Amino acid sequence: MSVPSTTRPTDDLSRLLQVRQVYAEPAALASRRGQQVLGRFPGAEVVEVPSHWEIPELHGNEGNVERWVRVKSETLVLGVKKSLTARPNGRSANWIAPSTANGCAMACAYCYVPRQKGYANPITVFTNIEQITGYLRRHVARQGPKTEPDQCDPQAWVYDLGENSDCSVDALVSDNVADLVATFAELPTAKASFATKYVNRQLLELDPRGRTRIRFSVMPEDDARVLDIRTSRVAERIAAVDDFVEAGYEVHLNLSPVVLREGWEADWAQLLRRLDDELSPRPRRRRRPRSSCSPTTGTCTRSTSGGTRRPRSCSGGRTCSSPSAARTAAGTCATATTSSAPGSPGCRNSSRRMRRGCASGMPSEFVST
Ligand code: SF4
Repeated sequence: MSVPSTTRPTDDLSRLLQVRQVYAEPAALASRRGQQVLGRFPGAEVVEVPSHWEIPELHGNEGNVERWVRVKSETLVLGVKKSLTARPNGRSANWIAPSTANGCAMACAYCYVPRQKGYANPITVFTNIEQITGYLRRHVARQGPKTEPDQCDPQAWVYDLGENSDCSVDALVSDNVADLVATFAELPTAKASFATKYVNRQLLELDPRGRTRIRFSVMPEDDARVLDIRTSRVAERIAAVDDFVEAGYEVHLNLSPVVLREGWEADWAQLLRRLDDELSPRPRRRRRPRSSCSPTTGTCTRSTSGGTRRPRSCSGGRTCSSPSAARTAAGTCATATTSSAPGSPGCRNSSRRMRRGCASGMPSEFVST
């Protein structure tokens, strides 16, 4: 099903970002990418800073907590990414790619991204994109072909791009994400992957050639209304799936976070039925079973190429979310990692889970290729 967008990209940009101030390292300011970002926000005041990490009036200013969303809307930071490393992951991705941004213009209640950024979390754009894509190309080449399937992908080495940001919003600010999508389109042994809660239809104009996996996070509307602040509505994310498949993306749905509250099972069942009703057959195609959960015994195991193990963020039983409701008419087992709003009674593993990618939860079983 293809639902036409009713929101133009420029509307999206001005809804999320009315940038008044750009803190910039001199090298980032002088770069082509830095100039591109400034060109998108021509009225912004530029403040030079020695380092994107050393901005006391931003990250060290306790008063910014009161202005949390306003700072996200009105401030950007430009920096140069110095340490280029790909960290092993092994869950939804084989590697965590070096960031091309951190921070986010959205403001989900459970977001872990600000954990190292003090009292403010605006978007920082790293402008040395050629160095980052060059590093990734060399890293992919060093791996050679993937010879054994694993839970990340049967054939490709998967690189998570959005550990510290939401790439769909980053793409409004600069062409870094477009450059990453173009890079992976040329790498037949690798695949990019990022989770998102934002529908940026500008991404439909790119040519990912199946080498970028976009993971829309979905949850019942009642949860999203109070937890997902400034994001695209869940209905809009679901409506975008077919269009992104059509544009050549691999699309997954992350079923997360699962908040244990009165009525959660019924609301999740309703959401899964909705996915079954609204998605066309291609996105619903099942790749292969990856999980084996027993709601009756309270056990939850996930098969990997190396054997069977308990998922890191599953404590079994109490937090295992595999009710029969999580089985759609299409026969797809939509096993999700359970998480709860921090501080809620069901929140047993959120701190560990929060270290993962952008509120992404475990890989969903809704897959399109
Ligand atoms: S959870 Fe993701 S989308 Fe939400 S504020 Fe954090 S980075 Fe942004």
